[in-house]
Amino acid sequence: MPSAADRLDQGIPPLDNLDREAIRAWLTESDEGRLERLWGRADEVRRAHVGDAVHLRGLIEITNYCVRQCTYCGISACAGPLPRYRMTRDEILTSARQARGLGFGTVVLQGGEDPGVTAEFLADIIRAIKAETGLAITISLGERGDDDLRTWRAAGADRYLLRFETTDPALYRRIHPNLPGSVSDRIAQLLRMREMGFEIGTGVMVGIPGQTWDTLGNDIWAFRDFDMDMIGIGPYLPSPRTPLAGPLKDELMAPPSRQVPNDELTTLKALALTRLVCPDTNIPSTTALSVLDPSAGRRNGLCRGANVVMPNVTPPQYRVLYEIYPGKAAIHESAEALASGVLDLIRRLGRTIGTGPGGRRQVEGLGARG
Ligand code: SAM
Repeated sequence: MPSAADRLDQGIPPLDNLDREAIRAWLTESDEGRLERLWGRADEVRRAHVGDAVHLRGLIEITNYCVRQCTYCGISACAGPLPRYRMTRDEILTSARQARGLGFGTVVLQGGEDPGVTAEFLADIIRAIKAETGLAITISLGERGDDDLRTWRAAGADRYLLRFETTDPALYRRIHPNLPGSVSDRIAQLLRMREMGFEIGTGVMVGIPGQTWDTLGNDIWAFRDFDMDMIGIGPYLPSPRTPLAGPLKDELMAPPSRQVPNDELTTLKALALTRLVCPDTNIPSTTALSVLDPSAGRRNGLCRGANVVMPNVTPPQYRVLYEIYPGKAAIHESAEALASGVLDLIRRLGRTIGTGPGGRRQVEGLGARG
């Protein structure tokens, strides 16, 4: 059998046992026939390793306060004056009940990095959601101290999402500045959270200014190296109120031959390759993908490796204020309408709705995939 290197010599990147060179070759592949083989293989691997079930996670955007100055994010502290909100305990519980009522197995409590969401405030909510709904709980609130993380794990939180955003340390510092007096190291936090018993999830944006083909290839390789349980990959969508949509973009952009574009095709290639190198991980078809291509983005993600969707159950009056990039909010649609569109799509694809918590591992107190 020819080695990966032999096949690359013949100009055909391999689809199995990918190495960095093959990932890099696939990322820049433009031949439609070959790409069909990549899509087909990613779908096969998805089916063989995680099955046809699509797991639904109800996303609750609990706060848009943020102390971070991420230069890409429309709710960061450097995104100009914005109306800010923090949901109350009752509002969060009502949204969690709604997620349960819609048949989802997990709620994701996401928000800016907000010290106003104290460890105890959230621990009390985690306990209440667990007691009342039994749902799996994913937290995604940025970089928090180990004491807060342990408190949330002890209260019953099952998973934590923290995208490392890029493996290029110089680029990371430009898009994700340190807070005064501390050095941001998201990978270190992820590994500590795994020790605490969380399932851990990470991810990157595709096409962020300064992201080269090599960087994106290294990011995908890092997902595999760190054996991530969940991996979110979406296109970078510029928010006009952020520094990265201004002069910083020109400063960071790589030369055109090296810069990754923030388009759907490249995002789908990154998603499919991630499925090939992380066959049994949970991978969402992201909201950003469906914002870029409202008619087919979500479907394309599900057909090219994804097995999770995260319908938004944030109350519409808050959803509109959680605009990390333009066009995200879907403010005119109720949570029920959003969910029913997702359920229809899953059925039309001949897939099934995931039942149970839909985790990757056997987390204490939770089953694995239902
Ligand atoms: N504050 C938490 C954190 O930083 O992990 C969670 C919320 S943050 C808004 C969630 C993710 O949104 C980020 O990790 C980032 O990858 C993504 N994001 C932020 N701004 C974006 C943009 N302009 N385009 C695409 N994705 C974006």
